Amino acid sequence: MGGIVHIKTTKALVAAGLVADAAGLDAVAAKYAIGITPAISALIDRDDPTDPIARQFVPTTAELKTTADERVDPIGDLAHSPVEGIVHRYPDRVLLKAVHVCPVYCRFCFRREMVGPQGLGTLTPSELDAAIAYIAAHSEIWEVILTGGDPLVLSPRRLREIMVRLADIAHVMIVRFHTRVPVVEPDRVDAAMIEALKASGKTTYLAVHANHPREFSDSARAAVARLVDGGVVLVSQSVLLKGVNDDVETLASLMKTFVENRIKPYYLHHPDLAPGTSHFRMSIAEGQALVRALRGRISGLAQPTYILDIPGGHGKADIGASTITGGDGCFTVRDWQGIEHSYAPD
Ligand code: SF4
Repeated sequence: MGGIVHIKTTKALVAAGLVADAAGLDAVAAKYAIGITPAISALIDRDDPTDPIARQFVPTTAELKTTADERVDPIGDLAHSPVEGIVHRYPDRVLLKAVHVCPVYCRFCFRREMVGPQGLGTLTPSELDAAIAYIAAHSEIWEVILTGGDPLVLSPRRLREIMVRLADIAHVMIVRFHTRVPVVEPDRVDAAMIEALKASGKTTYLAVHANHPREFSDSARAAVARLVDGGVVLVSQSVLLKGVNDDVETLASLMKTFVENRIKPYYLHHPDLAPGTSHFRMSIAEGQALVRALRGRISGLAQPTYILDIPGGHGKADIGASTITGGDGCFTVRDWQGIEHSYAPD
């Protein structure tokens, strides 16, 4: 049911059996884009009202509730944007946002006011020229992070054009892509795409965004394997989401699934204060308890870093529960079970 169409409207949600009726959802759709790929639609259990895949992608009227602390630009991209499409928050790296569309639209998206058909669009050729010129003119930029939107919606030809231009900039050594495509549209990851992601003399990293182990269908696993075998280094990116992965079993399984698929767990984000997303947010204390429990459950290789993007554009902070207190040579260290031990070397 609904397995082959790319769902973009409330009518299509009803036709695919993902919602009983569209009542109230048109108001949501007027504010925030809808997008569910056939691969994701096929993973949704229509008989489970709490299905964690549906919760990430199927809109609900809960999104119409905006709280006082939520903001249009939760991580402060605009405050650090010297030219269109560039965010320069830290000295050694920039975001290059070439495109503001995605194959899916996550209901908790931190850039939900910027992405979608009515979002900021794709950079024009002259805007892209200016963005590349900015990178070329700043010799401190070591890493370029292509995000958006989802950069893998671009054709291999367009991606190659960008990579060839980055290859010409001697001080750029690393190009990193942030994408959901290997999981939500795995067939897109073909040989032409993988070749296009690489640039002579540079190393390509790709952060795969996934939040639940069930997102790793056989096709997604195969796409990930093609990327790794093709010479791309993979890291993970997830968001801690109420009703999706806010229990230790699911989180442990997700992180182990990443490692088994040769993706090094990297970031576990606390959800940002994006409008209409309060139903996804747990408290930081709850998140820290989960992350501490993970330490006792799974290998160090599978541990992500729990991250808060400080609202207002002040960058990322590691908010994993602090495990050490004290000073002057005498510390108290807390283990994964919460038991305290003194550490006072001579
Ligand atoms: S794929 Fe990323 S940018 Fe696109 S809607 Fe999801 S979280 Fe937002």
